Amino acid sequence: MKIIHDPLEMRMESIALRNAGKKTGFVPTMGALHNGHIFLLKEAKKRNDITIMSIFVNPAQFGKNEDFNKYPRPFEEDCRIAEMNGCDILFAPAVDMIYPENYATYITVERLSEILEGAIRPDHFKGVTTIVLKLFNIVQPVEAIFGQKDIQQAIILRKMVIDLNIQITIHVLPTVREKDGLALSSRNIYLTDEERKAAPLLYKGLCWAVDAYKKGEDCSKRLEQGILNVYFQTDRFLPQYIAIVDVEKLEPVSTISSVTVIAVACKTAQSHTRLIDNVLLNGEL
Ligand code: AMP
Repeated sequence: MKIIHDPLEMRMESIALRNAGKKTGFVPTMGALHNGHIFLLKEAKKRNDITIMSIFVNPAQFGKNEDFNKYPRPFEEDCRIAEMNGCDILFAPAVDMIYPENYATYITVERLSEILEGAIRPDHFKGVTTIVLKLFNIVQPVEAIFGQKDIQQAIILRKMVIDLNIQITIHVLPTVREKDGLALSSRNIYLTDEERKAAPLLYKGLCWAVDAYKKGEDCSKRLEQGILNVYFQTDRFLPQYIAIVDVEKLEPVSTISSVTVIAVACKTAQSHTRLIDNVLLNGEL
């Protein structure tokens, strides 16, 4: 596995690969790799000649009081995991190579970036779309793979790619979970033991809704109330939103008929860790 830190070198490598007729698949990450990331990497490997993963903890997507400084950065272990799982090129630039002094250009996907996660984390998605576009320009992949775990991010990135005529296909893969249903996340390490025990309830609420929908309940209000009832079983986390929305505009739907996202977010009571999760009804991304 080749490790590249310099954006210019990465771009030269990409151009050479393209000229050699190689199909490249790209998996952008912030590192602290887990089985969710590995799943994306393996899919990229299956679908492409060359697999490129980036590791970059992007300061632009963290709010002032968020965990940028304490975000885990086990770089050597990540290199080992990436290599073992078929990564050909690992791109890991330094912050000042991506955002040099006087950096001034940001990308915003309007509206979609302002709701749900965007309402709680202002400027988060502006940071995400900016870094992903920069990475796309540097890595120039044929396709890029993202996780449904961050469904709003995936939907926003698809919109960016369409709106800006970017010739990269985006694939979105299902969420990888622990045995008890908790979605894998690099932030799960922040949870206290009690919070970790309660955390699977987040997905249990969603599973309750999927089950209720299958049995004929199509009223969003009643589904939302049922999910809340599950969350009331614990005081280890507080729900921040339960959104039942259409998959394109992320606008609330009152009755479920077409492809619908149920997205939930909560904050834990002790460690103040934010957890997000979602399920899709009636289709896939
Ligand atoms: P991150 O390192 O958290 O920025 O995530 C990098 C990529 O991995 C994003 O496309 C995420 O959606 C995806 N991802 C994170 N957690 C999971 C998971 N549990 N299952 C599948 N994909 C995931």
